[in-house]
Amino acid sequence: MEFPAFLDEVPDGLRGRVALVDGVLHMSAELRGNLEMVSFFGRLRRRGILTYEFHPPKDFDAKYAHDAARSFRGENAIQQFAIELLSKAYEAGASDIHLTDFGPYTLIQFRCLGMLNDHTHLEGDFGRQVIACIYQTLGQSGDACFSPSERQDGRICKREYLPAKVHSVRVHSEPLESALSISGVGISMALRLLYDSTSATGNLETRMGLLGFSKSHYETVDFLTRRTGLTIISGPTGHGKSTLLKHVMEAMVDRNPGKAFYSIEDPPEYPLKGVRQVIVYTKEQLERFSAYVDAIAGAMRADPDVLMIGEIRYGASAVAAIDAALTGHAVWATIHANNAFGIISRMISLLAKHFEKPLEHLCDHNVLSGLEYQRLVPVLCNECKIRMLDIPENEREYFIPLDVQQRLIRRAENIENVYVRGEGCERCNRRGLSSQTVAAEVVATDQAMLGFLRAGNTEKAYEHWKIEYNGVDYVQHALQLIQAGTVDPYLAEERLGVPLDFNHVLSGGHRK
Ligand SMILES: [Zn+2]
Repeated sequence: MEFPAFLDEVPDGLRGRVALVDGVLHMSAELRGNLEMVSFFGRLRRRGILTYEFHPPKDFDAKYAHDAARSFRGENAIQQFAIELLSKAYEAGASDIHLTDFGPYTLIQFRCLGMLNDHTHLEGDFGRQVIACIYQTLGQSGDACFSPSERQDGRICKREYLPAKVHSVRVHSEPLESALSISGVGISMALRLLYDSTSATGNLETRMGLLGFSKSHYETVDFLTRRTGLTIISGPTGHGKSTLLKHVMEAMVDRNPGKAFYSIEDPPEYPLKGVRQVIVYTKEQLERFSAYVDAIAGAMRADPDVLMIGEIRYGASAVAAIDAALTGHAVWATIHANNAFGIISRMISLLAKHFEKPLEHLCDHNVLSGLEYQRLVPVLCNECKIRMLDIPENEREYFIPLDVQQRLIRRAENIENVYVRGEGCERCNRRGLSSQTVAAEVVATDQAMLGFLRAGNTEKAYEHWKIEYNGVDYVQHALQLIQAGTVDPYLAEERLGVPLDFNHVLSGGHRK
């Protein structure tokens, strides 16, 4: 456990001018000979901090101002540890932190490139204190008190607790059955670090290119940004829906400075340049639903051109999205679904309580413009990836299971350029992977397609998209990435959640 216990004792006169980084005390040079400093360092030496460095004040500000602020602000060691944890996760490129209290100990894991890795273990009491501190002291939430036996949500958005580029952190905790714990209850806490790891800027084509979309994806989305009506982005949690939405909105703002952009998110995931982000006020979990729908109605009265609805979660927000589209607005939203056409059935289940014939309302050509689905797949490290055909045939199975090989051969046109994950190297932190990219499908609706959908014939709509628009589904997109040597076939299957020879039409998978 590495937390500096002396932090509270920093004399006021030295605050912000000293920083402790990895056991070395860094000081701004004007403190040289300062009596307060001499006696402070004397105390540190007795605690085992033996190394120090002076820096010209300018250099200190440039290099250590952030650490100085962090290291010496914490109320106590536990808070300090929690703040450092966020910072370490960010530096490791993690999207999430998992803290699991099993009773005798708490396991801390980071999710990097979609995969969970152990970060450290804490002793039981300390671990529970860190968990409570994250929720109670760092976070802001409806319930001020952390209760291990309840499901709770919160959010960290105070700048002083967050690494510079992290916009906010979403906090969620669940009680766990735990035989090892004295109380019988363990805790699973998940922290989602909200930041844009791509930091793409520029026009829509550049931004989408950096996120991994193909030229044809871009062309379809670009077409959709010029239409009114509802476009819905879908995919599992943590697969980049909000990131795409952010870039679409910002690119639209750049192109149309004369339009009014509003967003309703609960809570906002990213700051959106040029977009008015309406705050959803909620006190209790129960009020959340009506507060969200209220905020949408409010934004509608504010004379918007483009409306972004962070996530369609309730029937009433689905109805509001349809109303906004019907009244001639461009509406962009996200939803959880299993693929682009799967958005229809998800929306229908939300709308069923509100409309007698929900399909008629949704699949109207004034309403539904676009459907998108995406998953993130890991990109192989260029330095250490291995060409599949260079691996002797009898050893290939160690790198890629036989059944995956068979499916790949069945579906791929060319396996010359297929690469698999290597041992890992310096460049990729021994992960064998360098980043993530999307496997996506984008559909712009037309009258014929909407006609099939209204009749409940999703297969026909899907075929129409394939034939008339050369529609490439997300599994095919992933296959293209595999054949280009960008993505490992085995990891791709794992991350897509379906086999590479998955056939949407035969399985009826798009109706799930
Ligand atoms: Zn590597």
